Amino acid sequence: MTDAHCHILRGEKRHFLCEPGESQIGANDVVFYGCHPWLWKEWEGTDSLRGRIASNPAAGVGEIGLDRLKDREIPEGMRDVFKAQLEIAAEFSRPVVLHGAKCWGEVVKAVSPYVGRIPAFLFHGFSRSGGLVPDIVKMNGFISVGPAVLNDHAVNYRRLVRSFPSEIILIESDATADNASEAPSIEEIARKTAEIRGEDFASFKASIDANATRFYFTA
Ligand SMILES: [Zn+2]
Repeated sequence: MTDAHCHILRGEKRHFLCEPGESQIGANDVVFYGCHPWLWKEWEGTDSLRGRIASNPAAGVGEIGLDRLKDREIPEGMRDVFKAQLEIAAEFSRPVVLHGAKCWGEVVKAVSPYVGRIPAFLFHGFSRSGGLVPDIVKMNGFISVGPAVLNDHAVNYRRLVRSFPSEIILIESDATADNASEAPSIEEIARKTAEIRGEDFASFKASIDANATRFYFTA
């Protein structure tokens, strides 16, 4: 299956890897380069990212975005770094993986001028903001459902996941070197997602693979 968002390889058929470091990329894997919003102060400037994107014709841009987990106010510098990276994605017409913890409305607002110039958007770790789903659909956005769906207490998240249109759902582990041993498999997350949506697993699986292909290849 496809792991729509991870930072390490985990033996899936295909991984969408954000800043994977030294990983040995498989033939089906796709790499995304970008400065995570938590690291905006370490942003090296546009030349470095533009160079990596220009020399890797198959690479996307991510994970980039805004974040309100650490501070209530989004720093201006974080917005500038996000915008500079969106410009590069638009210039090279590459798909983008988005981060928007506790500020998805702000992220949707920030990316809307790029709709059309950026071919597709993946809303990774998306939660709480069901009202934005129609906007996400309109911008050729996709939403990846993550390990939180396995938590029986995550009632609101499961309700949100039930509301997503089938044609925009992907599945992600968000596995990193640090959480590798506890991160659940894509199959486990996908089975639970299909179950709570009342969908047949085989057809759900086929649909998320087709969605992953559409996200990456609409460019
Ligand atoms: Zn991540």
